[in-house]
Amino acid sequence: MSDLYLKLVNTSIGKSAAQSLGLPSPLPLKRWKRSDQPFIEGNVLIGAASGGKALSAVANIVNTSAAMLHHASNQDSLKESANAGPKAKPLDITTAIGESFTALIFDGTGIKDAYGLRAVYDFFHPTIRKLANCGRVLVIGRDPESCRSPAQAAAQKALEGFVRSVGKEVGKKGATANLLWLAPGSESHLESSVRFFLSPRSAYVSGQVVRISKKAGKAGASSPTAPLAGKVALVTGASRGIGESIADTLARDGATVIALDVPAAMEQLQAVATRIKGKTLACDITDAKAPDLIADFVRTHFDGLDLIIHNAGITRDKTLGNMPDHFWDLTIAVNLAAEEAINEALLSQELLRPNGRIVCVSSISGIAGNFGQTNYSTSKCGVIGYVEALARQLKNSITINAVAPGFIETQMTAAMPMTLREAGRRMNSLSQGGLPVDVAETIAWYCNPASTGVNGNTVRVCGQSFIGK
Ligand code: NAD
Repeated sequence: MSDLYLKLVNTSIGKSAAQSLGLPSPLPLKRWKRSDQPFIEGNVLIGAASGGKALSAVANIVNTSAAMLHHASNQDSLKESANAGPKAKPLDITTAIGESFTALIFDGTGIKDAYGLRAVYDFFHPTIRKLANCGRVLVIGRDPESCRSPAQAAAQKALEGFVRSVGKEVGKKGATANLLWLAPGSESHLESSVRFFLSPRSAYVSGQVVRISKKAGKAGASSPTAPLAGKVALVTGASRGIGESIADTLARDGATVIALDVPAAMEQLQAVATRIKGKTLACDITDAKAPDLIADFVRTHFDGLDLIIHNAGITRDKTLGNMPDHFWDLTIAVNLAAEEAINEALLSQELLRPNGRIVCVSSISGIAGNFGQTNYSTSKCGVIGYVEALARQLKNSITINAVAPGFIETQMTAAMPMTLREAGRRMNSLSQGGLPVDVAETIAWYCNPASTGVNGNTVRVCGQSFIGK
């Protein structure tokens, strides 16, 4: 369903009416358009607190794009920024700045205590007003769990509060702010995440913290235009909505997709599979025979699988006292138990190949809770717990992560009562709903062979919804 308000408010009459009435004025977000598009263009400014470990790795990644890289100079607390390499031009940020920036990147990995946080202010205070519409704030920190002292852990955790607040300030420009927490020695795992969070692919992801580790093994190599070439993906619930977009996006990135849905959705599923040159699999994932049916299908057609995307999901809303037991049982079965059983079959039969990916679709209802959704929130919170626990057990560079969508424009949200729908759309930093492709792009980043260090995370795709953490 299209967002009429977003269209109206971006006409000249609509804009002034919204301003005079104090209503939100969301900007249309820039999304990914073509496979040969550079992940970032324009002026990018980088800076680092002293002792920063990620600066040169990040500068090298930005230098592979079409952007002009500048490094902050003339601030004592930011003198480390000069290590961004010869391609980065020094820019005195203590005087009036002429440029506007498509991205502001700050390496805070060297911050050791509360006083060190002053470098964050010194970098962003003179530059934040120069962030372009739909720009990116990206902060790199050190995982607090790997810090030696409580003071260092506190300062690194503090970056989360900073990013969440700055995301709320820049959201009105359609811009985002996110934080990558690095484990020591994981700088070589940064590439796919830096590319994703700087690019239009992350248009609806803001206020998020991602842990990057090196535990999972060496990061795989990937092509910028077809990162999933040669990969086989299973997408459940692929006939419509978010699942259809996931299938399209993974196929765009080069994967061969097995599109799975219930037998009743075969006609729509066939249309999706034909469009993306994939295969169809009619299956109710709650059927006791489903895990073996899927395993046999994979073995027969492909010998193995690289990407498992558990997207199929249902809601059966009722307040708890009014909820019949089959509403509870079916929601838990589809949204949680079936995913566990399918993974168990594919992993135990060694059908998921090395550097494979499992991605589960949770929901902000699973994080914040929601009135009338005790069953749904229970299942979607269970998904997060499952991802965190299985991430610690997986071997062969296989990872598992989750996305937690907020308000996404699909048939499900189009069916909501108008007032609830409008509230859902506007109650986030970007003042608009997301599109299925925003969830799909986030899943494609997890699936990238170079995302091996991204394991056990739940990233919200919610425009930094005001609901929940
Ligand atoms: P949707 O209802 O449009 O699509 C869900 C798909 O899953 C359908 O094609 C359906 O046939 C399939 N499915 C349901 N039960 C199945 C079963 N037993 N076996 C096989 N397939 C089955 O929903 P959507 O809005 O595209 O949501 C996709 C996922 O995203 C779900 O897990 C949902 O909970 C989650 N989500 C959606 C939103 C949103 O705003 N739309 C927000 C948060 C989370």
